[in-house]
Amino acid sequence: MAHDSGEPNSSEERGPRQSAGSRQPHRPRQLADRPWPEVSRPVVCLPFGSIEQHGPHLPLDTDTAVATAVAQRLAGRLAAAGTDVVMAPPVAYGSSGEHEHFAGTVSIGRDALEVLLLEYGRSACRWAEKLVIVNGHGGNVDVLTAAVPRLVHEGRDVAWLGCVPEAPDGDDGGAPLDAHAGRVETSLMLHLQPERVHLDRAEPGNTEPLRALLPELRRGGVAGVAANGILGDPRGASAAEGERLLSAMVEAAWRDYVAWTPTASGRLVA
Ligand SMILES: [Zn+2]
Repeated sequence: MAHDSGEPNSSEERGPRQSAGSRQPHRPRQLADRPWPEVSRPVVCLPFGSIEQHGPHLPLDTDTAVATAVAQRLAGRLAAAGTDVVMAPPVAYGSSGEHEHFAGTVSIGRDALEVLLLEYGRSACRWAEKLVIVNGHGGNVDVLTAAVPRLVHEGRDVAWLGCVPEAPDGDDGGAPLDAHAGRVETSLMLHLQPERVHLDRAEPGNTEPLRALLPELRRGGVAGVAANGILGDPRGASAAEGERLLSAMVEAAWRDYVAWTPTASGRLVA
C-alpha cells in the first residue's frame, strides 16, 4: 500500500509553470479554463462527491476533496503519458439521505442525481473522447450503477471508478479501514488540506463493523448509530498515513483506467 508515486502534495494547487523535466506530474488542463477551440476531443475526468456531515472535525466537502485529489492525480498521469485529458469541475452534491439528520448535509437524492449524470454524459460525450467519473462517496454508487451502463448502452464511452483505500500492509501500524469520517478520511484530509481539519475535535464514533450497523442505519440514518456522525475512530490519523492511502488509491485508479474493462455496473476494475 505504501507505494510512493513521487507525486507532490496538492499538485492541483500549483500553477501551470512547472518545468517539464521535474518529477512533478503534469498539472492537468482544467476544462473550465479553456476557450472552446482549445478543447478538441479529450478524455474528461469528473470528480463526483457530496456535501454531507463528516463528524465534528472534517469539512462537509471531504468526499469531493478526496475525489478531486484522486482525479487530479489520475489526470496528471494521463497527461504525462500523452493523453489529451481535461479535469471537469466536480459534481459537488450527492445522495446522502443517511446523513440528513446533521446540519449542513445537502442531499439531492438518487432520482435527481441519476438524471444529472445521464444528461451530463449525453452532453459531454458530444465532444469528449471518453468520460471517466471518479467517485468519492459510497452513497452515489447506486446512481452510478444505474446511469453509467445506460450511457454505455446508448453508445457512449463512459465508466466510473471509486476512491477505495486498500487494506493496510502492516508497515504503518495497521490503520483500520473505517467507514465514515474515521481514521482513513481524517488521514487523507490531514495530507490534502490540513488547515481544514479540526483535529482537537476528533473523537471516536461508532466503531462497530458497518455490516453490523446496516439494519439500524437504514432505519434511523447515521444519527441513529453515532451521535457525532463518525463511523470509526479518527484517533491516530496522520498526514503520512493519508499520503500512503492516497498514493494507493491513485495507483488503483491508474490500473483500473489503463485496463478500461468496465463491469456490468460501469465500474472500471483492473
Ligand atoms: Zn466521506
